[in-house]
Amino acid sequence: MIITVASGKGGVGKTTSSANLAVALSKLGKKTLVIDGDVSMANLGLIFDFEKNNPSLHEVLAEECDVKDAIYKHKTGAYILPASLSISGYKKSDLDLFPEVVNEISDDYDYVIIDAPAGLNKDMAIHLAIADKILLVVTPELFSIADAMKIKESGEMAGTNILGIVLNRTGKDFGEMGPDEIEMILEEKIIGVIPEDPNIRSATLKKMDVIQYSPKSPASKAYTELALKVTGSY
Ligand code: ADP
Ligand code: MG
Repeated sequence: MIITVASGKGGVGKTTSSANLAVALSKLGKKTLVIDGDVSMANLGLIFDFEKNNPSLHEVLAEECDVKDAIYKHKTGAYILPASLSISGYKKSDLDLFPEVVNEISDDYDYVIIDAPAGLNKDMAIHLAIADKILLVVTPELFSIADAMKIKESGEMAGTNILGIVLNRTGKDFGEMGPDEIEMILEEKIIGVIPEDPNIRSATLKKMDVIQYSPKSPASKAYTELALKVTGSY
């Protein structure tokens, strides 16, 4: 199953959620690959300390190497296809090849998670169309919900439905939007609630996913629950 993690608005937690969901699914015994689909602002590799690995998705999309050579197994058990941090790497990559690359390997995994960029450009359209389902990441504020609505509509236009909503960074601000209100506006179910958790920032500073960094933290528990929901056993 190919899941694109999208949001519309930037900085709401797509990369954090892609990485930690991939680790949580791997820990449940599901063979999971997470791909850095944000090829211009790649930072998935940072969480796994794979940002300098070469070849990366950029070389694959420049037809310089085989996709299998750019997939790395992380110590958590998750498989990662990172993009490099270099601008030259980005410039040489042809995103039109992305669907072909994903289709070549998707059968090898139980789950393929694509960490999508913000916005609704051409890259995004490719990521929405190729997915079986879209996971919408939102924060409990109106701008984030409004932008997620556009992603939902674009997904539907591409023939891809929403798997569910991940409500991230709850408990941070006074007067935030409630889950019922968010579900009503987006007409989709919330399948994961990730609280604001300083362990996420500390983990990233150490180039680690939060599940490995602090397995008992609120965020780790929340990502494990999300993974259980995704696999349908919860
Ligand atoms: P996106 O990929 O949507 O741009 P990121 O996953 O990069 O968003 O997250 C943006 C920032 O917010 C990062 O610094 C990340 O560590 C932080 N962050 C994300 N989710 C949480 C959370 N639940 N609690 C605390 N910090 C978070
Ligand atoms: Mg990101």
